Amino acid sequence: MAAERDFFDEGELVAVLTTQPLDRTLDYRAPEGGCFLGAFVEVPLGPRSVLGVVWGPGKGDFDLSRVRQVIRVLDAAPMREEMRVFLARAADYTLTPLPAMLRLATRAPGLGDPPSMRKVYRLGEARPDRMTDARRRVLEVLEEYGGLAFTLRELSEQAGVTASVVKGLVKLGAVREERTPRDLPFPQLDPDRPGKTLTGDQKRAADALRAGLHSGGYGTTLLRGVTGSGKTEVYLEAVAECLAMGRQALVLLPEIALTAEFLTRVEHRFGARPAEWHSGVTMTERRRIWRMVGRGGAQLVVGARSALFLPFRDLGLIIVDEEHDTSYKQEDGVLYNARDMAVLRASICGARVVLASATPSLESWANAQAGKYERLELTDRFGDSMLPEMRAIDMRAERMQPGTWISPTLRQAVEDRLGKGEQALLFINRRGYAPVTLCRACGQQIGCDHCDARMVEHRFLKRLMCHQCGETKPIPDTCPSCGVEGRLAPVGPGIERLAEEAAAAFPEARLAVLSSDLFGSARALKEKIAEIAQGSADIVIGTQLVAKGHNFPRLTLVGAIDADLGLQGSDLRAAERTFQLMRQVAGRAGRADRPGLALLQTHQPEHPVIRAILSGDEEGFWQAEAASRQAAGVPPFGRLAGIILSGGDSAAVFDLGNALARNDAPLREIGAQVFGPAPAPIARIRGRHRVRLLVKAARGAPLQAAIARWIAPVKLTGDLRLAVDIDPQSF
Ligand code: ADP
Ligand code: ZN
Repeated sequence: MAAERDFFDEGELVAVLTTQPLDRTLDYRAPEGGCFLGAFVEVPLGPRSVLGVVWGPGKGDFDLSRVRQVIRVLDAAPMREEMRVFLARAADYTLTPLPAMLRLATRAPGLGDPPSMRKVYRLGEARPDRMTDARRRVLEVLEEYGGLAFTLRELSEQAGVTASVVKGLVKLGAVREERTPRDLPFPQLDPDRPGKTLTGDQKRAADALRAGLHSGGYGTTLLRGVTGSGKTEVYLEAVAECLAMGRQALVLLPEIALTAEFLTRVEHRFGARPAEWHSGVTMTERRRIWRMVGRGGAQLVVGARSALFLPFRDLGLIIVDEEHDTSYKQEDGVLYNARDMAVLRASICGARVVLASATPSLESWANAQAGKYERLELTDRFGDSMLPEMRAIDMRAERMQPGTWISPTLRQAVEDRLGKGEQALLFINRRGYAPVTLCRACGQQIGCDHCDARMVEHRFLKRLMCHQCGETKPIPDTCPSCGVEGRLAPVGPGIERLAEEAAAAFPEARLAVLSSDLFGSARALKEKIAEIAQGSADIVIGTQLVAKGHNFPRLTLVGAIDADLGLQGSDLRAAERTFQLMRQVAGRAGRADRPGLALLQTHQPEHPVIRAILSGDEEGFWQAEAASRQAAGVPPFGRLAGIILSGGDSAAVFDLGNALARNDAPLREIGAQVFGPAPAPIARIRGRHRVRLLVKAARGAPLQAAIARWIAPVKLTGDLRLAVDIDPQSF
């Protein structure tokens, strides 16, 4: 192949990839002044103008007289070749049309517009004739901070005056008002500031990560260590090294709620806050980050999975913290797993990846076993803290009052802790008051009108809520099925109900309830967590939200109300998930030099997964789990893809599924099998019926190519939709 041209003169044909759902690039003529390969451009499409990227030389297969000209080149660094390769490979891997990938990479509104301006205030030349206290304070603040410019809000807050005082000083010439672009580079992080003094274990791991960075090429490391073993400290050393080398780093976190705590930690370590990227960031700030990342004006980005699609100028390191977390899988729109995409991106741009976890995914564990990933272990918890002792409470032997879920044994353990002034955590992975609302007259449960799901009572909100689509409705007095009044009853425990029980059982204790739906914002949640860490509660009652990386130094007891919950159902990943979740929750107990105890309420103490959780034999668990997956030929030892068909008419959706299942020649050619159609794990969402076909192939089989050939002839009529889910989370 001839070397790619990287500049096109005015009038030359260029192929432009737009964000519109077209299955090809379109030819245009380069604009006045020409354009670079990768340039972000605005092009005419029909009556509109749309965003695109110059993807290569024009194909020339259009009626040349009708080819239109690029309207303008946007003021943004051209997309680098490695980014174009990444998007193309990610599109191939996930069987996503390239324009949809490009949309992921351009999620910064107005990314090519000139930066918006804002007003700032500095010290002016004149002095007011009449000096008031308020005026003096403003001038003092400006003098104290030398040449620094303030926004109106900053200045009036610092000086403790109203905005009109500042405005008055502007009129008098004592304060200067200026306009500056909002797009400012991020403050410099200083990688040379000393970190914590590492333990021997930590130092060895940090040295290995540093050596990896200097090896100059791609590589992935699985950094495993129990919660509190100091993984974060270790990978911050790698971040420091990467920044010192002048390259950029990206830290992915599974939850926005964790970001704030982490940003503060980075600020302590490097003396400034990094760029923060997630759905809660304002549009203006997003555009700033997008541009600064492209120009190298942001050294470190901390964010959610979509940060992988930012246009880094020189990305040297990607950290995927809590790499096993299922929220790394995007389940809407483009279906991708950020952990896998991080590895793909790094392998293209020559970066290092660190996958950090206390309980790695079986995929990563197997990759490390196979020698594809380097493996680093931190065996001890930092300081003197120890892993909690783990014990089962056999619920078959407990005398339970109907409608209660805290066993006498657990209750006694909680009381012990309260007596010692320590904290206890009661864990239940269910939001709301009760998972089922049942009519005692007719036996019917209240379901969602749009989904194949039960409505869950949320007493706090005084409503029933569908956890599938979020629809809520008032809690009715009469049964919607039989019309009998006053016989609807909650069945089973949710976190709100458990809180009620705990309040009655431990009337003296201060309770804190942590569930994602009880907090209006990530900030409110973060504040609550900080308060709890300070000791504002004696008993914390939480959903899986609490399993993730929060430090509660006085917490010494964890009680899992229903350790069996995740073991039900047909999901092959259930064992892995339950194992991870229970180990993580248990890991909350006994940090900071107080020994912890984790009690698991279970009806099946003999279950192999429960036994593995209790014994803490992770290696043994992974090996057994790997053996059973291998025998079943499922990931990571075989390949799977889901085809999700959906539409308003169930029969039409099934017809399409059956037609696909019959015409499976392209799959048989690669030795793949197709199962289904069957109702998808969520069979109805927002009134749309969903049916899934599952394709299973051997590990090395060219699965995506075969699926592409298989679904190519499908004509989607009406409201029918087809989505491909490579490596589905549940199978
Ligand atoms: P992990 O990421 O494995 O959960 P962290 O890195 O968050 O562990 O460490 C747990 C706690 O121990 C944190 O409060 C951290 O600041 C502290 N810590 C870890 N390593 C050290 C060290 N070498 N010196 C001092 N404190 C440390
Ligand atoms: Zn619903």
